[in-house]
Amino acid sequence: MKTAIIYGPHDLRVEEVEMPAVGPEDGLVHVRVCGICGSDVHRYLGTRYGQRFRYPLNSGHEYCGDVVQVGENVRRINVGDKVVLGVDWVNGGPGAFSEYVRIPHADERLHKVPEKITYEEAALIEPLLVALNGFSKPKPKGRESVLILGAGPIGLCLLQLCRNECSGEIMVSEISPRRLELARHLGVTAVDATKESLEERVKAFTNGEGIDVAFECAGALDTLRQAFSLTKPGGRICLIAHYSQSAEIDPEVIVGRSLTVYGPGYGGIFFNEAIRLIVDGKVQLEPLVSHQFPLQKAREAFEAAANTRLSVKVLVRS
Ligand SMILES: [Zn+2]
Repeated sequence: MKTAIIYGPHDLRVEEVEMPAVGPEDGLVHVRVCGICGSDVHRYLGTRYGQRFRYPLNSGHEYCGDVVQVGENVRRINVGDKVVLGVDWVNGGPGAFSEYVRIPHADERLHKVPEKITYEEAALIEPLLVALNGFSKPKPKGRESVLILGAGPIGLCLLQLCRNECSGEIMVSEISPRRLELARHLGVTAVDATKESLEERVKAFTNGEGIDVAFECAGALDTLRQAFSLTKPGGRICLIAHYSQSAEIDPEVIVGRSLTVYGPGYGGIFFNEAIRLIVDGKVQLEPLVSHQFPLQKAREAFEAAANTRLSVKVLVRS
């Protein structure tokens, strides 16, 4: 079978390897699509965050596929099931930039997906779970104002959750024209940070008070600073992106203005809610897919994903 291995920064090769042997607790999944996560891009580029992982690696975890074989002790998962996840966080994922992936402890780790959810939507369940977990921490409600910094896949999921739950101003700041257009299409105010002053827009929208809840989903130092400076006293800040650089934050900003800061991470407990939101049409995931490449062209796929001005979610098909 074919698999895409990252050997080091900018060094990805598609190789022919042996099919994985299936043990008694394992499930073997024929991967149909696997999304490139922002964290995968960090690994491909070899940033500070990416270097936490050991090369060579195949971290693909945002996949959907069909079970083609199960071990003798597997009970809950069956051949033919459409499944997602089974994340192995040890090295960033189970290796789903491959034609087939072996998932250990298939009964506990694989999640079945209803047939009516497409492979493409299912590949975006993992970023939706991250967004659901992020949303659950500061939990904006009622007429509270929300600022989402960065309209990548997680920011775009978050803005839909906020749009469903809040009646106040929801503002997204972004620099990619493609992502700005998507944010507007999904029904919120989108500020082009290359052309407009976000500070001015926030002032105008909140009568000079500042934002109630800020979600930092860009991973840039400018947006990190904005999250702190634009949130009003007593407000909540949720940091969701990974950062290539360290940053200095004045603790007086947090103490003096009584801010609450969250770093929520992954949200597996929201799986059933994610499925319900997709089936009910409350969250749209397919518009987030900007590019699809065959596994053979995984390198081009990663280059496209690294170019966040042009791409949103890039899927690799196998
Ligand atoms: Zn991910």
